[in-house]
Amino acid sequence: MSHVLDPALRRALSERFRYYNELGIYDFYRRGPRVAESSGTAVVPTEGAAESDLRFQPELREEMASRKSAAAAAVADQNIFEVLPARPEQDASNPADALQLIREDLGDCTRCKLHKQGRKQIVFGVGNPRAELMFVGEGPGADEDAQGEPFVGRAGQLLNNMIKAMGLRREEVYIANVVKCRPPGNRTPERDECETCSPFLMRQIAVIKPKVVVALGAVSARNLLAINAPMSELRGRFYDFLPAGSRDASWPGARLAVTYHPAFLLRDPRQKGEAWKDLQMVMKYLGLEPPKKAVE
Ligand code: SF4
Repeated sequence: MSHVLDPALRRALSERFRYYNELGIYDFYRRGPRVAESSGTAVVPTEGAAESDLRFQPELREEMASRKSAAAAAVADQNIFEVLPARPEQDASNPADALQLIREDLGDCTRCKLHKQGRKQIVFGVGNPRAELMFVGEGPGADEDAQGEPFVGRAGQLLNNMIKAMGLRREEVYIANVVKCRPPGNRTPERDECETCSPFLMRQIAVIKPKVVVALGAVSARNLLAINAPMSELRGRFYDFLPAGSRDASWPGARLAVTYHPAFLLRDPRQKGEAWKDLQMVMKYLGLEPPKKAVE
């Protein structure tokens, strides 16, 4: 049943959504009515929820819902969606333009504390806007911060070798990070920083629509999958991955694989063989020819 939103409520919701949009979040989810587990009734979607809202992997949907949809969850009226603004990139005619619109939306970002901890510039992402394969690391280092491009230092050289070993060129894939500003001293990005920045990454992935996303390292994997597990459990399999807010019914989502971060492989080269196994799994899925020589 549809109801007309009270004007004051509509205004309040609009303001709240504007606040979330400022953070790069354009997608909201409502939990359906939850019945006590003892009743044996599962959680069901709320009437009127957008179809795209219901396709996310359950753990991600739950995670996103708990983190970011307080405003939406509080109101049981399907007309709430009338006040939701469209993403800026929604009507772009091609992925390159859409990525540019996301970059403009990011602006000279000050949304998390990394903006005031010594970053020189925002490192948005680089590569083919229509890439079938996307790599996602955790955050820029000193070289990336200086050049404004992800994976250009020593770890970047190794990533280039890994890409080459897969029979691809760097220009053919897309490379980005969970956070777009360099954490001071190359520390691990903190949870609030990842949560603030990752909506923009999700929008990038939703625009590029890769067949495979490779998460480089545990920080990337845990943020993309919203699973808190060690690398030993995360690697060695594909996950179905649909970035939050993907609205293209013709794109079923990507497969996501997890491998070691190149910086870790530089510190522990013995793990290169394991990383190569992960990449071979991706190559097989993408139909890439196995090269004669593996990762160097
Ligand atoms: S890390 Fe992301 S959210 Fe934080 S200031 Fe940089 S661009 Fe903004």
